Amino acid sequence: MSLSQLARSIKESPTLKLNETAAILRDKGEPVIHLGGGEPKSKAPIDAVVNCATQLNAGDIKYAPADGLPAMKKAIVRYTDEHYSRSVSPDHIVVSSGAKQAIMNVLYAILDPKDEVIFPAPYWVSYPEMVKLAGGVPVIVTPEDGTFRPAVREIADMIGSYTKAIIINSPNNPCGAMYSKDFIAEIVQLCEKRNLYLIMDDLYNRLVFDGKAAPNCYEFSTEDVSRTKLVVVQGVSKMYAMTGFRIGWAIANPELAEAMGNIQSHQTSGPATPSQWAAVGALNGVQSSVESLRLTLENNRNVMIERLRAFAGVKVSKPDGTFYCFPDFSAYDKDSNKLARFLLDKVRVVTVPGKEFGMEGYLRLSYCGTIKDTMEGLERIKWALDPSSPNELYLGERRLVRDWL
Ligand code: PMP
Repeated sequence: MSLSQLARSIKESPTLKLNETAAILRDKGEPVIHLGGGEPKSKAPIDAVVNCATQLNAGDIKYAPADGLPAMKKAIVRYTDEHYSRSVSPDHIVVSSGAKQAIMNVLYAILDPKDEVIFPAPYWVSYPEMVKLAGGVPVIVTPEDGTFRPAVREIADMIGSYTKAIIINSPNNPCGAMYSKDFIAEIVQLCEKRNLYLIMDDLYNRLVFDGKAAPNCYEFSTEDVSRTKLVVVQGVSKMYAMTGFRIGWAIANPELAEAMGNIQSHQTSGPATPSQWAAVGALNGVQSSVESLRLTLENNRNVMIERLRAFAGVKVSKPDGTFYCFPDFSAYDKDSNKLARFLLDKVRVVTVPGKEFGMEGYLRLSYCGTIKDTMEGLERIKWALDPSSPNELYLGERRLVRDWL
């Protein structure tokens, strides 16, 4: 079969693949613990469900404008004012089928062939493939000091004549690190000085722990809203536990927003209207579910970190937010794909190999599941890897005897 060069250059999403593998094993009755997940366990907010159900009951579900329903844009204008202290108008907004599509739209709208997009490692798995889909070249900055936080200088050093944009995701999937206020300020200023687009992927910016708050990129921008190259990407997937509704959005200057809306109009048209009404409900409704999710995740994170710190050989830094952590397991295996496969085979725990996020030797572990799964998953991993643990382990009724250490 002859596939395009583009199709051949794009890899499957490893996280979606893992979900599939876990579901197949579960269907076979295997006691799988999924520490690879990317979505909170909690239910969608009641205001989202009621708003969506009202629309569905009316039975009148029709095309929406390609760049989003007016009611959804209005809710985003209000949200942006409340959470970013930034006044935007509807012509700055494009509502998409998930933050994923919002980022894709930005890239399609700004990249010419061979244009480069810089982002730090570890990075969200999809960035390199998305940049390639849009004809661009991903340029990865790996912090020299072995931390998850690059110096702005390291990013600036990678800027060349083909550089079009920088993507910053804070707090970060997969490591949970939030970049400092100084870092965000300097990156915004760097992009304005060098005339680059800055895509702020803020998807997790309300899921932050230890009394911290995510820096607001707009605070450091001196460009006028009508001309700015700063693009903020947001969505309801993570903070409202609404992954299946597939609603995200981008806020950009009106010229870019129009181009993104045009692109979307030929690809998918506007996002599904019941989903947009659900998102309107979430944004305008009672916000307590966000705080209760945040508190649950903070507690889960504490449990996960405490267990990992008791694990000889594993190095881990405490995530500031999200629902992921990114421990260094290289003392056990330098090949993270091999290690993740081993853990799934031997103890039925799903993890995501660090290599997919640009850092070999690490595993991404999620703490968005139940506390019981988090604890049991880590106990199984420890049993599989640590020779000081007892020789036997029970997975439900099944007795496992370790014969590999
Ligand atoms: N950005 C980051 C950093 C993510 O982790 C994800 C989802 N895993 C997305 C964007 C896409 O989110 P959505 O579900 O809204 O498409």
